[in-house]
Amino acid sequence: AKATARGTCAVFDDTMTVETGNVREIESDLRLALARGELVLAYQPQLDVAEGRVTTVEALVRWKHPRRGLLPPHEFIPVAESTGLIHALSSWVITEACRQIRIWRDAGLDVRVGVNVSTIDAQQDNVLTTLDAAMERHGISGSNLEVEITETLLLEPGGEAAKALFDGLRARGVHVAIDDFGTGYSALSYLKDLPCEKLKIDRVFIKDMRDIKSRVLVEAIVGLGRNLGKIVVAEGVETPDQYHALKDVGCDMLQGFLFARPEPADRLPALLGEIAEA
Ligand code: C2E
Ligand code: CA
Ligand code: CA
Ligand code: CA
Repeated sequence: AKATARGTCAVFDDTMTVETGNVREIESDLRLALARGELVLAYQPQLDVAEGRVTTVEALVRWKHPRRGLLPPHEFIPVAESTGLIHALSSWVITEACRQIRIWRDAGLDVRVGVNVSTIDAQQDNVLTTLDAAMERHGISGSNLEVEITETLLLEPGGEAAKALFDGLRARGVHVAIDDFGTGYSALSYLKDLPCEKLKIDRVFIKDMRDIKSRVLVEAIVGLGRNLGKIVVAEGVETPDQYHALKDVGCDMLQGFLFARPEPADRLPALLGEIAEA
């Protein structure tokens, strides 16, 4: 049964691993979840240090599973990626984010929303076609959106596909953020030609900022990014010490539990007010 192509074997037998079984179960559940509307987006604010307010929020997907409760993305994104369901999932995320942007705008809240897309999304043009349909349907423009892509995308053999995605986003005025910056096999030379507006420094670097070496590293990344004209964001800001250190090194934007956890959309208007006042 193991050699049978995915999706053609209806019966589980003892030659299949527990993992295989889980993947298949999650895959079929996830397919249903997309159809039944069980996915939700939570939104986490990014504080713009100079402006002293939240100008962007990151959309993070969760699954309201009928039996297992609220599932975090690491429980199902890898399965979505390995089964190709990620294309449908990303389309849902993009469309839902656009719907929410319109709701907030109508309520007088002007905020840009960052969505995460997977490296695999670059293999098809669904991100761009979904964006066009969703922006038109909800009457919003590209500048309301940001797409977060990890730097591994740039190193893929299909670099051409990545380029098409970057070009398409740029043509639509959608900002591009490089996610988890510093954790890939970054050859820094690619950075200078990279059509992106933002670098998000991964939280592993922020975590040990009390250590002088980590601090020097963060300072160097911030300096490099800013000198290349990028907006630099720190992820995973959890303590006041980290906050002050990041402000001192000139980081433009801060995101982390210190300010807010990812929250349901209806919590955002109040939350953004609280963060601006603090
Ligand atoms: P990410 O894009 O790096 O997202 C940041 C993750 O860090 C989020 O976890 C967020 O809740 C968490 N986080 C934020 N601030 C802090 C902090 O101060 N401390 C700590 N310890 N964690 C913090 P989450 O929501 O569980 O998402 C995990 C990953 O799943 C994301 O990492 C992203 O790679 C992926 N993901 C989430 N939503 C989507 C989506 O809609 N599409 C795709 N393709 N991937 C997604
Ligand atoms: Ca992200
Ligand atoms: Ca990240
Ligand atoms: Ca990550």
